[in-house]
Amino acid sequence: MQNIHEPSAIGRRCESLRREGKTIGLVPTMGAFHEGHLSLMRRARAENDVVIVSIFVNPIQFARGEDFDSYPRDLQDDLAQAERAGVDLVFTPSAEAIYPDGFQTYVDVTEITDGLCGASRPGHFRGVTTIVTKLFNLVRPHRAYFGQKDYQQSAVVRRLVDDLNLDLEIVLLPTIREADGLAMSSRNVRLTPEERQAACVLYASLRLTEERVEAGERNTKLLLDEMRTMIETEPLARIDYVALCDPETLKPLDQIEGPMLAAIAVRFGETRLIDNLLITLP
Ligand code: AMP
Repeated sequence: MQNIHEPSAIGRRCESLRREGKTIGLVPTMGAFHEGHLSLMRRARAENDVVIVSIFVNPIQFARGEDFDSYPRDLQDDLAQAERAGVDLVFTPSAEAIYPDGFQTYVDVTEITDGLCGASRPGHFRGVTTIVTKLFNLVRPHRAYFGQKDYQQSAVVRRLVDDLNLDLEIVLLPTIREADGLAMSSRNVRLTPEERQAACVLYASLRLTEERVEAGERNTKLLLDEMRTMIETEPLARIDYVALCDPETLKPLDQIEGPMLAAIAVRFGETRLIDNLLITLP
């Protein structure tokens, strides 16, 4: 497995792979790998000639006061795990190489970034779409792999790809969970044992909504209240948002007539966790 640091070098390497007729699968990540990341790598391995994983904790998608400095990082372990997953090439650029002095161009996807995490993390998606565009331009992958855990991110990236006529396929893969339902996240390691236990309430509240919809409940206000009430039974949980929205536009739903996305963000101490469930009508 090759590790490339320089943007110009990955650009050249990918250009020559494409000229050889190889298909390229890209998995963009911020590292601190868990089974969620590995599931994307394995799928990319199965579907492409060459698998490239980028590891970059992107400073511009963190607002001031967020956890950029304390975000978990373990490059040596990540490299070993990527190698075991059959990755051909990792791209580990420095922030200075990605955002050199004088950098001043950003990619902004508008409406779909207004709600959910976009509302609580101003500037976050602008940072995401800017780095993703740079990675797509450098690697020019045939396919790029994203996890449903960050559902809004994947919806924003799909919008970006459609709106800017980018020539690649976005593959969205299911959320990988711990045995007790907690969605795997690099940030989970920062939870205290008490917070880790309390964090089970995220998935439990999403499942509650799914069950209530299956049982025929269609009142979104009631469903949201029930989710909030369940989350609030955990004294360590502080709700950031609880939402039921259209899975395409991510606009809040007043009425349930088709598939919907239940999405939540909850803080436990310093750690903000997100989760979601796509719910279809029976
Ligand atoms: P991150 O390193 O957190 O930026 O995540 C890199 C990619 O892995 C993103 O596409 C995430 O959606 C995906 N991912 C993170 N956690 C999970 C999970 N539990 N299951 C599936 N995919 C995930």
